[in-house]
Amino acid sequence: MSTSTYEDTAVAGAETPALMKAAVVHSFTEPLRFEEVATPVPGEGEILVRIEASGLCHTDIHAAHGDWPVKPTPPFVPGHEGVGIVEQLGAGVTQVVLGDRVAVPWLGYACGSCDHCVSGWETLCTEQRNTGYSVDGGFAEFVKASADFVVRVPDGVDPLDAAPLTCAGVTTYKAVKVSGARSSDLVAVFGIGGLGHLAVQYARIAGARVVAVDLQDDKLALARELGADFTVNAAKEDPAAVIQALGGADAAIALAVAPKAFRTAYDSLRRGGTLVFVALPAENGVEIPIFETVLNGITIVGSIVGTRTDLREVFELHAAGRTRVIREERPLAEVNEAIADVEAGRVPARVVFEL
Ligand SMILES: [Zn+2]
Ligand SMILES: [Zn+2]
Repeated sequence: MSTSTYEDTAVAGAETPALMKAAVVHSFTEPLRFEEVATPVPGEGEILVRIEASGLCHTDIHAAHGDWPVKPTPPFVPGHEGVGIVEQLGAGVTQVVLGDRVAVPWLGYACGSCDHCVSGWETLCTEQRNTGYSVDGGFAEFVKASADFVVRVPDGVDPLDAAPLTCAGVTTYKAVKVSGARSSDLVAVFGIGGLGHLAVQYARIAGARVVAVDLQDDKLALARELGADFTVNAAKEDPAAVIQALGGADAAIALAVAPKAFRTAYDSLRRGGTLVFVALPAENGVEIPIFETVLNGITIVGSIVGTRTDLREVFELHAAGRTRVIREERPLAEVNEAIADVEAGRVPARVVFEL
């Protein structure tokens, strides 16, 4: 909508409507409201993206409920798996052009100059802004984003696949990376859902044998289909005993939003093993024994999303046909029903809102 006056300030594509539909959190105790709000206007270094697909992550549900110690401030628009087409360029933007397809991930901005940023750990930047949490996210027809922090989606990658890869993909890809998984390893993946079904595939790509753990047989069947070598139904068997009988896990990746699963993952490790904390349960604690951790040389590491480089690699692997995204499309107007279904474990892997 914006036009150039005496100076080139911004570049617009097609006529952008002044109002857009968005799913807005007004209160942590009420459902989201699907309503019309003003379309954001990109400032210097920012772009406006017309959303095509937007994935629903557990983090969005925690954001909407205000579950975590650091809470977002309502009203806000959740969503950090938004994928769409660059519609407007703010002043000074040269990183992308109109019509590019980009992903707008959780890491919406980082300072670029602190020790974390310059050492390749921009995800630890204390100045970071998070899409769908501290700045409005992708549960809307348009989202405003920092041009430096969007990641281009390669040709041939379906936007409906790109959306879940933007958080679930990059998060599990990075978790497998930090686990140090190698070709001779056994990797245990705890929780086969939106994240877990991708973690299984990334561990396989790293060359490891994979054991998938979940409470539901259909999710375990999916894990097998995606390359898991072993599966354990934690409702029927003790995963730690089964995995120890396989020799113990070199790495365990905790993706289930239950502290008990973190403890079971710990108990499934072999000596020298690594436990990666990824899921963020509302109940913020798990008891880990000091004695066994010391004697067995266990490493426990937290892993939060991934960098822009990690996301580029995730898209590259998908474009090369190395990964499959299991998803279910829903209209954004049904955001509250989708949240209820995810909380009840009624969706196969990932819900993606189609816009
Ligand atoms: Zn997420
Ligand atoms: Zn920084």
